[in-house]
Amino acid sequence: MASLRDLPIDAFIDALSIPCCYIDLDGDVLLWNGHATTLFGWERAEVLHQALPVVEHLESALETWSPLLLQYPFSTTAMTPFQHKDGSLVYATAYLQSFSIHDFNGYFLAFLPKGFGPLISTEQFNLLHHFQSMIEQSTYYLSANAEGVIHEINPMLCELIGAPNHRFIGQNWFELIHPVYKHNPIADTVRHALVSDRIWNGEMPIYSKRHATNVCWLNLTVVPILSEDGDVLQYTAFGFDVSDKKRLEREVEYLAYYNDLTGLLNKKGWLREYRDILQSTDQTEGLVHIALFDIDRFKIINESFGSRVGNELLLQIKERAARYLPESSVMFHPSGGLFGVLFLEQSKEEVFQLLRQLQYELQRPFRIYHHSIMLSISIGCVFYPSATNSLEELYTRAESALFKGKRIGVGTIQFVTKDMDDAFSRQIHIEKALYKALEEKHFYLEYQPKYELKTDRLIGFEALLRWHHDELGQIPPSEFIPLAEEMALIVPINNWVILEAAKQLKAWQPLVDQPLSMGVNISPNQFRSESFINTLRNIKQQLNLNPSDVILEITESLVMQQTEEIIARMNQIKRLDYRLSIDDFGTGFSSLQYLKSFPVDELKIDKVFLDDWLTSKSHLLNVIVHLGKSLNLHVVAEGVEDQEMLDHLKTTDCDSFQGFLYAKPMSPHRIVHMLTNQVDNKKH
Ligand code: C2E
Ligand code: CA
Ligand code: CA
Repeated sequence: MASLRDLPIDAFIDALSIPCCYIDLDGDVLLWNGHATTLFGWERAEVLHQALPVVEHLESALETWSPLLLQYPFSTTAMTPFQHKDGSLVYATAYLQSFSIHDFNGYFLAFLPKGFGPLISTEQFNLLHHFQSMIEQSTYYLSANAEGVIHEINPMLCELIGAPNHRFIGQNWFELIHPVYKHNPIADTVRHALVSDRIWNGEMPIYSKRHATNVCWLNLTVVPILSEDGDVLQYTAFGFDVSDKKRLEREVEYLAYYNDLTGLLNKKGWLREYRDILQSTDQTEGLVHIALFDIDRFKIINESFGSRVGNELLLQIKERAARYLPESSVMFHPSGGLFGVLFLEQSKEEVFQLLRQLQYELQRPFRIYHHSIMLSISIGCVFYPSATNSLEELYTRAESALFKGKRIGVGTIQFVTKDMDDAFSRQIHIEKALYKALEEKHFYLEYQPKYELKTDRLIGFEALLRWHHDELGQIPPSEFIPLAEEMALIVPINNWVILEAAKQLKAWQPLVDQPLSMGVNISPNQFRSESFINTLRNIKQQLNLNPSDVILEITESLVMQQTEEIIARMNQIKRLDYRLSIDDFGTGFSSLQYLKSFPVDELKIDKVFLDDWLTSKSHLLNVIVHLGKSLNLHVVAEGVEDQEMLDHLKTTDCDSFQGFLYAKPMSPHRIVHMLTNQVDNKKH
């Protein structure tokens, strides 16, 4: 059995600037450092292989510690009395750790007495905590004097570096740092830590013949050994080789920031590398431009020729593109068949020419294995300065331009135009403002009257959401509702709409002696949301309102999805007695089969069918009205703008209509005026 004193643990314990010892499971002392002697008065020779003299009832203490340490490998006792050799008591906090190394099992004890030396630092505490693993792994060791001059170095470390022992003695230990890292602040960091924390633990690159790249990363712990006056007598450093871990880290980083195949930066890597580029660019000159080029239908090429060909193609594209792009530009590779170029020194005109040429070159045939492949390349490009100062946003704009081009056809070059750029900025502006709009009560409702066709009588309203923004002015619902929907803000907004519209209806009903209903638009997300049924139930109860006067308008496209779920939800709503309407009917391709199974009350025929009739006098409109009536539904025509249209509708079975011809959406104030002033409440 090796003696513990041959293992690095002994040197380590000596090096710790805290009194500590190591005892076996029976309590016999195996290691005892100088600070323990200072604290307790016992010399090492006096205590080695003797029962630990400083704990009064050692046996019962051991009995307490072992179950404790079984549960938590590391534990501390609060200020506890320990015995000094002279019989006096020493109060200290003890850090206990069950510890086994090689054939030894036992406990490691470190004492932190009141008023002893420097307070324990977090660093030290963590080291104590990881004591066992650290000791077990520490195979490299050296010690140096207070000036850092090496006076001892173990054979393992000499072997790792690949030079004999005498080469190092007398050298400053910082000279072991690999020359490539000489200018790295690592030495300063270590010096600083040793002064302030009196301990340093970290990773240090040293020169090593044993490693392929000649760099070995050591996880080193450096502790000073202090004199009684607190002066540094020497430094002791222990370490283990973490080169493998370092290599892995680099590989992971590589995977995260580079395209595996082409070795080009990926989007994330490119964003990281160039995040400050816009700030350091002269705004007026504006020489930063971003282009994305994409192989049209790359997926199909990959599938039909196989990924071996696909990969080779990407590599050849990279090479060919690099030949035509200026050296100052940076090519990157976000994914699959999509590449990017960051232009740093070209004018817009030059970029324009370059992209045309690039597209031309990449559309010449590629010879891959025995295939000849021709591609079409689409390009999206954004010029800077633009309305944004964020690189990521510029990327998104180039991407949108690319997609926009692809929608037109393959092989397009699409630039982010001033209009597109402005539209993006507006969208972002609106998104930000939307968050505040509800809170700050910037939404309001307008109401569009709805009339019975046969009699021209007013039968109800449709509530339409409005938003007035201080800077942007009036923003149409078609613009902000899809955004609110995307941002999940639609649910609270629409809950407010239903409540507000229901309250208005309640207030207006007594003004006339005919039934009035209120249509409210329900967005798909709101319809599916958990809270929706509760909102409806609350409104019914709170307002003491007849729910069948409220018509919930849902779009046909919503009805088309997940029918089972949607029908269940519709039935829930019907059980609460609300009415349901299918809005924009005819635009969403619902099958008759579905329609029959839906518990809906009303169809609103989209304006496109009215327009269609006006331009071509086709029968489509009549067919749709007929369809609705054959399903026993109330049929509403939307968007009646002229008399000819209205006259024609009157010849069909359509029940009611809305439209600018009779009334535009109006403020509640005007509705009240209309209700109280018009005797028959007909055409306004
Ligand atoms: P929608 O439900 O189809 O609403 C009818 C739209 O047609 C309204 O546009 C209305 O002002 C317009 N309109 C009515 N009569 C005529 C006409 O004779 N000619 C023409 N050209 N248009 C007419 P608006 O207010 O801009 O609303 C647009 C869409 O925004 C609505 O279409 C609806 O889908 C949505 N929306 C409005 N308010 C809300 C709401 O509170 N919640 C939800 N989720 N969506 C809403
Ligand atoms: Ca509607
Ligand atoms: Ca509609």
